[in-house]
Amino acid sequence: MRQHQRPKSTVPPKTRRTTSPPASAVHDDARPLKILMVASEMVPFVKAGGLGDIIGSLSGDLKRLGHDVRVVIPRYSSLAVQGRPVKMVFPSMGVWMGGICEWCSVQSIETDADVPVYLIEHHLFFSREGIYHDQSMQDYLDNPRRFAFLSRAALQLCLDTGFAPDIVHANDWQTALTPAYLKVWHWNSSTLGGTASVLTVHNLAYQGVYGRDNWPYIGLGDQNFTEDKFESYDRINLLKGGIHFADTVNTVSPTYARETTTPQGGFGLAPYLNNKGENYSGILNGVDYGIWSPENDALIAKRYSPAALKGKADCKRALQNEFLLRDEPNVAVIGAVGRLVHQKGFELIARCIENVLETMDVQFVVLGTGESWLENYFGELPKRYPGRAGSFIGFNNRLAHIIEAGSDFFLMPSMNEPCGLNQMYSLRYGTLPIVRATGGLDDTVANYDEATCTGSGFKFWEPSPRALYYTVGWAISTYYDRKHHMARLIANAMSQDFSWKRSAQEYVKLYRKAIDNKKVYDGKHR
Ligand code: ADP
Repeated sequence: MRQHQRPKSTVPPKTRRTTSPPASAVHDDARPLKILMVASEMVPFVKAGGLGDIIGSLSGDLKRLGHDVRVVIPRYSSLAVQGRPVKMVFPSMGVWMGGICEWCSVQSIETDADVPVYLIEHHLFFSREGIYHDQSMQDYLDNPRRFAFLSRAALQLCLDTGFAPDIVHANDWQTALTPAYLKVWHWNSSTLGGTASVLTVHNLAYQGVYGRDNWPYIGLGDQNFTEDKFESYDRINLLKGGIHFADTVNTVSPTYARETTTPQGGFGLAPYLNNKGENYSGILNGVDYGIWSPENDALIAKRYSPAALKGKADCKRALQNEFLLRDEPNVAVIGAVGRLVHQKGFELIARCIENVLETMDVQFVVLGTGESWLENYFGELPKRYPGRAGSFIGFNNRLAHIIEAGSDFFLMPSMNEPCGLNQMYSLRYGTLPIVRATGGLDDTVANYDEATCTGSGFKFWEPSPRALYYTVGWAISTYYDRKHHMARLIANAMSQDFSWKRSAQEYVKLYRKAIDNKKVYDGKHR
């Protein structure tokens, strides 16, 4: 048997290293990171909105990239363990909050991607029906305390398990206190002293603003209740403080990142985001194509792909049947799914859809819940346009898939949109999005150009029913008059790739930047 010989070194002797470089000089981009994500939602266990999807998908893709990622979420009573084994980690863990020790238990569960998820169980805070609010949509009054506790408990868990993460990744106002606790209370800890922090803003409209009577419980001292940190008009603004303390801050699309640094789009926080300079950026969310793609979707009538589009016609017929629309294969169907709120542009739709139905040969379906006047309006619409308009007022995942697959166009005229998932789903289903060019909608949809026959959807800018009406008209005329362009746009749309893998790689870059920033910060402050 031939012996394996060590190859001769090709490094010239003069430059060959004889000793290891100091740890601080190593910036090894390939080194796997230890990451602790802290969040108030995570799919598949608990979801109130897009945040839950993102934590579930991102953690899995970071794990697949080889990183040691762990997640901390509350153990709400509504949390679904999905038949998975739950292990006890600590039957009791003490967490110091502003002079009071709160006691909780910690359990753990694993995701399909083998990500360990720690569940913080605190009966007084989390054993209740809702996540953020009660059945009448009233926010729980103790939300600042519930989530301050979660933010601190995540760090206590690190201390008690000896897990020394390179990065703590906080999400939205609910866990925006974690970066502050790290810097104020754990800067000198042997476990957490080297941990850098990232804060992701999923929606700047929600900032967690509460009365200052909660400040003693939060326990960060008067020196941090100042205008540049947590104070805002004599109240506490949790997101604002998190932005100050995090080593890097990001939001969920590049255009939303730009918009939120302007007075119009900044919801009052533009100056603080601008202060972060290049440490505030946008990373587009990804799509879980295992769930949202017509090739794999078990919830639709017929699977289809760009190469075999025939099934889409079956999906259109199924949609028309489901919503009692006329069985007309050659009439354009426009779909809409989402929270029926002003932000999502449903007010614009309500103010123009009857004009559309009166003047164009189209059918329209809508699925959503939200503001009661919009629920009433869209709930009644099918009675006025029988066979041409359909609606379902409620949350129904199956119908969301059926609308994505069966419609020809997807309407998403948001007033502002941090990223948006539905338009990315639509693209993959060959359902051309009609969007207002804002935030992630602008980043993910390429406007149709009639001259070159390029693009993947239809965009408008002015937030008015008139602009929406004319853009719908443009899309519908393309459907009837330029069929060859429609086919090209559908092919373009379906070839777009917004998978999580790309986004996860960008997050890793962001984490490494935060680690570098933390070294600079420590150098200045120690
Ligand atoms: P946001 O997180 O702002 O509500 P996104 O477009 O980012 O908006 O994500 C919304 C998610 O929730 C999508 O997966 C969408 O399909 C789903 N969704 C919204 N409303 C409903 C509904 N009424 N029924 C089923 N799914 C819904």
